[in-house]
Amino acid sequence: MEDCGYEIRIINDEKGKGLFARRSFKEGDIIFEEKPIVCCQFAWNADYKYLACDNCMCPLENAEENARRLTGKTNLILPYAECCETKKELITECSLCGTKYCSNECLNDAMKKYHKTLCVQSRDKNDSHPLMQLKETWKQVHYPPETATIMLWARMIAYVNQADDKNLAQSLFNQFCHRTVNEDHEIAHKLLGEKFVGQIDVLRQSMENAMNIENTPNWFTPEGFRSLLALVGTNGQGIGTSAFSRWVKNVSALELPEEQRIQIDKFIDRIYDDMEEVVGTFLNNEGTGLYILQSSINHSCNPNAIVEFPYSNSTLIIKATRDIQFNDEICIGYLEECELERSRHSRQKALSSLYLFICRCDKCNSQADEDDVTSEEEDFDQDMSD
Ligand SMILES: [Zn+2]
Ligand SMILES: [Zn+2]
Ligand SMILES: [Zn+2]
Repeated sequence: MEDCGYEIRIINDEKGKGLFARRSFKEGDIIFEEKPIVCCQFAWNADYKYLACDNCMCPLENAEENARRLTGKTNLILPYAECCETKKELITECSLCGTKYCSNECLNDAMKKYHKTLCVQSRDKNDSHPLMQLKETWKQVHYPPETATIMLWARMIAYVNQADDKNLAQSLFNQFCHRTVNEDHEIAHKLLGEKFVGQIDVLRQSMENAMNIENTPNWFTPEGFRSLLALVGTNGQGIGTSAFSRWVKNVSALELPEEQRIQIDKFIDRIYDDMEEVVGTFLNNEGTGLYILQSSINHSCNPNAIVEFPYSNSTLIIKATRDIQFNDEICIGYLEECELERSRHSRQKALSSLYLFICRCDKCNSQADEDDVTSEEEDFDQDMSD
């Protein structure tokens, strides 16, 4: 096998597998780049007109259209138009249902992998179509802020149905971290929220009505369906893309005279303020995807690598955040950066409730003697969860 700089190793029963360096990496090095097997934009996010390629999630609005929509200011003009990366001239659509793609490559890729199966074959929003009903059923049990979408599971099933080698296709999904039956229950319940637990069988029924499930019967027993939900709950990686934030990044990299720099920075700050007033924190096209290599990377509260999306689509990179030696385990933080700064007690609580594991990373071990004292903010969280 070609030495790619890393390898997946089995660690132990408790931790399962992990990713290890086969050579040294310097801070800032890209360890690898990966496209998802499947990804999907969230259902409410798409319905609220966050326009993204249905296959790779890259923005389909240009930065100015994006900023106009999110600020509600229809006359807003963005300078430095050359800093926008959206290539509107390449946008294309499924000729049957009108689903939009950033390019012919994405349209063809989607067709080949899952869209032939999932195309509703009509442009008018025909609510009686079983796939539309499935999406509606999902939306009623999963409100924003969204963490998953039923259409990702539908894509997994379609992916197997359309594959030449169906066993091979299913074995791809079997590589993801699996849990015990009880843990699957807990994760599935968290994903839907306790008040919608009764809806799991309704979702399963709705999925059975909408899809050919004969290639994946083991995903459709009551237990199998919970573990299918849990697979995405455990392994799904959030994806966010934004035409405006790409424009901001490119404008920030321009060499400008000081006066112009001050002006444009003020202008950008004002736009962000306006956006916050109109859409709050909902700035991005949001979705989730399944990545084989990335999902094999364990968590550390003091990680040596980070997930980034440098191309404004669903392709991720894993980047070293400090020097990594040969044989070191490569770790990322499953929690937000600000959460990683909180006390050991708070981190462990978050990790065990979201991911069902007790963190034994170096940072947690070195803080094992600390009191479980929490700050005021953390006490507030405690109250909320009681
Ligand atoms: Zn695309
Ligand atoms: Zn279509
Ligand atoms: Zn830890």
